[in-house]
Amino acid sequence: MNALGYDPLQVRTLFFTHCHHDHYLGLSALLFYRAMKPNAGPLTIVGPPDDLPVVVRLAQEFLQTDRFEPLQQHLELIPLEPGETWQDERYQIQTIRALHPVTAVCGRLTDKHSGAVIAFSGDTAPNAELAGLARGADMLIHDLRVTMQTLGWRKNPQRYLPLQDDISSVAYWYQTLPTTPFPELPNADGLEII
Ligand SMILES: [Zn+2]
Repeated sequence: MNALGYDPLQVRTLFFTHCHHDHYLGLSALLFYRAMKPNAGPLTIVGPPDDLPVVVRLAQEFLQTDRFEPLQQHLELIPLEPGETWQDERYQIQTIRALHPVTAVCGRLTDKHSGAVIAFSGDTAPNAELAGLARGADMLIHDLRVTMQTLGWRKNPQRYLPLQDDISSVAYWYQTLPTTPFPELPNADGLEII
């Protein structure tokens, strides 16, 4: 955030779509940063009712807030069930249940001042309800698991084929965690889709 010119103290609300590690591991660092600053305002944390209290408690225990009093800070936790809507004076987030191994949501964020709408898929598996949630949004942020077959590959001459969908950019990463292993990728000959 600093690199982009934002002070983390500007964050007033955290919204967790769900509490998998790659979504909350930065929480302790943020809480520590806030505790070291004299002018940190209140922080609200919204997330799934089952996992949110656990994750916040563990983040505080990691900071040993019971031993180090300056690290203690008031946090307002707002449990949000999938399907419920959260809002404050500026933003509204409607949700639907994401198809994921833990309680999780897809969301539709509306900026009440500008009217801008951003829908985000979260970590859902293919989910027919997402189309309805995102309909009419200005932007859809979609976590995709895309393989090379989406692009298509021609062997002779070797080149990727033009995209035939509306995906503007794709980031690839190779999953090495033992959570849900990918099937083995096909060889180059298996990539051609014409
Ligand atoms: Zn996840």
